Amino acid sequence: MPRTPIPRGATPLTLSETPLHRRPLIWMATMGALLLIMGLSLSGPEQSGVPIAEAESDTAESTRAEILAEAPALEPAVEVPSKLSWQDFTVGDGDNLSLIFNRAGFTDRDLYRVARYNDERSLRRIYPGETIGFQSDAEGNLLALRHVQSALLTTLYEREGDAFIASDITRVPERVARDISMTIDSSLFLAGSAAGLSDGMIMELAGIFGGVIDFVMDPRKGDTIHVLYEELVLDGERFDDGPILAASFTNRGETFEAYRYTDSEGDTSYYNEIGVSMRKAFRLAPLDFTRVSSNFNPNRLHPIYKTQRPHRGTDYAAPRGTPVYAAGDGRVTEAGYTRPNGNYVFIQHGEQFETHYLHLHRLKVKQGSRVKQGDVIGTVGSTGAATGPHLHYEFLVNGVHRNPRTVHKILPKARSLAEEELPRYLASIRQPVQQLASLRNAQQLALGE
Ligand SMILES: [Zn+2]
Repeated sequence: MPRTPIPRGATPLTLSETPLHRRPLIWMATMGALLLIMGLSLSGPEQSGVPIAEAESDTAESTRAEILAEAPALEPAVEVPSKLSWQDFTVGDGDNLSLIFNRAGFTDRDLYRVARYNDERSLRRIYPGETIGFQSDAEGNLLALRHVQSALLTTLYEREGDAFIASDITRVPERVARDISMTIDSSLFLAGSAAGLSDGMIMELAGIFGGVIDFVMDPRKGDTIHVLYEELVLDGERFDDGPILAASFTNRGETFEAYRYTDSEGDTSYYNEIGVSMRKAFRLAPLDFTRVSSNFNPNRLHPIYKTQRPHRGTDYAAPRGTPVYAAGDGRVTEAGYTRPNGNYVFIQHGEQFETHYLHLHRLKVKQGSRVKQGDVIGTVGSTGAATGPHLHYEFLVNGVHRNPRTVHKILPKARSLAEEELPRYLASIRQPVQQLASLRNAQQLALGE
């Protein structure tokens, strides 16, 4: 005898298994049928609903839809009769459940009944900004409680007899493919912001190209950037950034491309069009470029030494307090103060390479500490022989100063994808390669007109 299929959502525990954005249709169909049966007689002033309830079979179960109705921050999709409304309270600083229950007109005894069999559930920890909602019957008895932890997660506590049964209602945002093209006028940051990229996305973009482009010194007016990325969408609105899938950066006529790829080991990274990792041993600009002024003249500083002493590094003028990053993985060999250097950090990278960071405002590392590329080691300042806040950065190869801006050309080659990985990689980037190329063409055509 064939097994009778269990109706989906028959038990609250299975609720979160189906991505909630797929549910509205089922739910709307069910509610539509219910509305017909009820002849709309229950319509009240509080008509709203949220398409996150699972389809339920009969009247006893239909309360779930009502319980979920008008969840805060969620858009009502269809009208439903809601005889029981939610009373919502925002968790404040220093709040606790007892205070919130009292504010809502319930007692510690009610709280005890909700919490009793739910020791491991969300109510153990509530955070400021979250919402606790109460639903009661005509006599004021608590029927259900909802703990809205985020737009994606609500825990529902429903009364059954003398107990409250908890279930999690999760939502999954939709992933939507997007592309964006921008032309640099003064900086990547301004171009990205103007194009509508979030700060986080711009930082990510800079991180991807940080081994081949110095975002303080390299960008020129007219450089172009094209990005294919995903956006996470909830209820038709942007909810969060998804990953950057591919990007190209044309800097003074030279085009760099980067493609996101997850290899057969499950590691995700960015590679160029022939499968060489974008992650280099050193990032070119060892500071948060978003805070660096765009048209800075590197030779303007150091009036004290400018004639007497050759300049052996790169100066990045930046506001005091700008984070300074370790250019690569390594170990801090010195972190201290001298009159010429001010507060300074030296980092040793393997046998051959050393990086120096001078005139720091604050040091964030100690001698001997291990650092990873991108760790904040200090902040920009003007300590020592410096006339204004800037980072003086030096790069040494076997003890000899090299130009930090061009040194990457003599550094060991970045990791390439393994031979057996390449065919799969090249197949996976075929489409984004074309997409980026056509974005570049479209832009060139637009410029030519
Ligand atoms: Zn300098």
